[in-house]
Amino acid sequence: MIVLKQAHELEAMRASGNLAGRVRDKVAAAVTPGATTAEIADYAGGLIEAEGATCAFLGYRGFPGKICISINEEIVHGIPGPRVIEIGDVVSLDFGVLLDGFYGDTATTVLVGVTDPEVIRMVRVTERSLEDGLAQAKKGGKLSDVSHAIQQTVEAAGFSVVRDFVGHGIGRSLHEDPQVPNYGRAGRGPLLKPGMTLAVEPMVNLGKVGTRVLGDGWTVVARDRKPSAHFEHTIAIGEDGVEILTLG
Ligand code: MG
Repeated sequence: MIVLKQAHELEAMRASGNLAGRVRDKVAAAVTPGATTAEIADYAGGLIEAEGATCAFLGYRGFPGKICISINEEIVHGIPGPRVIEIGDVVSLDFGVLLDGFYGDTATTVLVGVTDPEVIRMVRVTERSLEDGLAQAKKGGKLSDVSHAIQQTVEAAGFSVVRDFVGHGIGRSLHEDPQVPNYGRAGRGPLLKPGMTLAVEPMVNLGKVGTRVLGDGWTVVARDRKPSAHFEHTIAIGEDGVEILTLG
């Protein structure tokens, strides 16, 4: 069941989304060689808790981290720990916050001194695919219009859009209906209506589409071990187009 949010609920989601976006931008700027992923996650957790919010991923189905940090061939759900960030790393950061009963969810990918032009292009294409998808997120359209736009941008650039993990509705729960795939034919799925709130999150592999979950039970990697990127915004469908709640 897709929950359409009322005005007061959207107001609360603006607050949680804004917090998630601000934390994302501050933490992304703090990703530097020599830092451990645990230090980065602790910084994020401190920012979140300082505003009276909680880290939504911590303890979610047993996830042990305050945020997800996924490096290079890791696509999503990487667990923060002693790993040290190095020059040349592609670092994906995924933030979930719970503020006053509502969730915000956003992700970005940081290039740490990366010089390989194909890797840089892959990350920029992933970011652009999110923009292209959100341009289709409007009242009267169909959900798969968003999915299709993302896939087109990614595949036109020669990269692979991950199919094993998808975006989702969001609100009083971190994951609500509907699922939001990053691929598919246009004109299908639920009608987009004002009050729908979605987390749209393309995951893109430089190489092939296949994924694998590591032995820790969480970290998802590209099967061919080539780099991957991830960008995400929480959005609301409005009367006059899309509202991005996690701009920060
Ligand atoms: Mg999400």
